[in-house]
Amino acid sequence: MTLAGAFIRSGKVRDLYAVDADQLLLVASDRLSAFDVVLPTPVPDKGKVLTALSRFWFAETAGIVPNHLIATDPAALPPSWTGRADELRGRMLLCRRVEILPVECVVRGYLAGGGWKDYAATGAVSGIRLAAGLREGDRLPAPIFTPSTKAETGHDEPISFDTLVDLLVGPGREAGALAEEVRDVALRLYAHGAAACARAGILLADTKFELGVAGDGTLVLADEVLTPDSSRFWEAGAHAPGGPQRSYDKQYVRDWLERQAWDKTDPGPALPDDVVAGTRARYVEAFERMTGASFARYLKEDVIAR
Ligand code: ATP
Ligand code: MG
Repeated sequence: MTLAGAFIRSGKVRDLYAVDADQLLLVASDRLSAFDVVLPTPVPDKGKVLTALSRFWFAETAGIVPNHLIATDPAALPPSWTGRADELRGRMLLCRRVEILPVECVVRGYLAGGGWKDYAATGAVSGIRLAAGLREGDRLPAPIFTPSTKAETGHDEPISFDTLVDLLVGPGREAGALAEEVRDVALRLYAHGAAACARAGILLADTKFELGVAGDGTLVLADEVLTPDSSRFWEAGAHAPGGPQRSYDKQYVRDWLERQAWDKTDPGPALPDDVVAGTRARYVEAFERMTGASFARYLKEDVIAR
């Protein structure tokens, strides 16, 4: 997809454009990555599911922290974008550009992924000591804030709270107070999201927020929020600690990929139609369960409603 306006870059899933000095456009494609490889077959409407979820959570969490969302209607874009409205509708977020903090604001409610590895090796996660004897997939006594670096290449490294303070030293805000505000906001966002997911029978194992600072020093929630790309969602009914848990959204395609003769390096195999349809159905179901809204209606009317 080529669009008017200054293209900045393509991530694995999203394309980023500068609309002007103050505004950014995030466009979620239908690309699917698994085992860190972008697969050659898109999953129709997947980008709309991710966008709709972010929209839902931005509205849900506006009372906790202001966010970067300006508009979701293509008509809000400058005239050079006219003609692209149909491509953009439902998958765009027009955002206020903020100075993104140089850390990933990770919150964990369960032991999984890098958190589990850290605990298994050291008995602590990002320096936070936990009770002995926890298993992979176990719920933590209370959610913990485990920030990490934002690595340009390679893997993000977990950092301690003191390192977070060091990384937040900059003009405008006192770093210690900013770090505490970041931790507090991230934990409150997690608690809100986890409770809403739990009502839908979904466990929010962990999630990553990106926070930024606006010109006036206000902390602003940016990027995407509580999507399958930024979170681990598990089916509550299938929760079985003692090993890796099945992810709600991507497990279906991962299971299929595991059955192929593929070494998990680029390029990945093309997905057959039934696997594409099954994957799409899982994403749509996740959206509908979490939001209580109709995805068909989102597609038709660009609103998040039953
Ligand atoms: P990937 O997610 O594929 O690993 P990526 O994170 O580099 O790669 P995207 O997530 O697609 O790619 O890119 C979004 C980028 O936009 C991120 O760098 C994010 O920090 C940045 N961003 C999001 N919202 C804002 C904002 N309001 N102001 C400034 N930058 C933002
Ligand atoms: Mg990203």
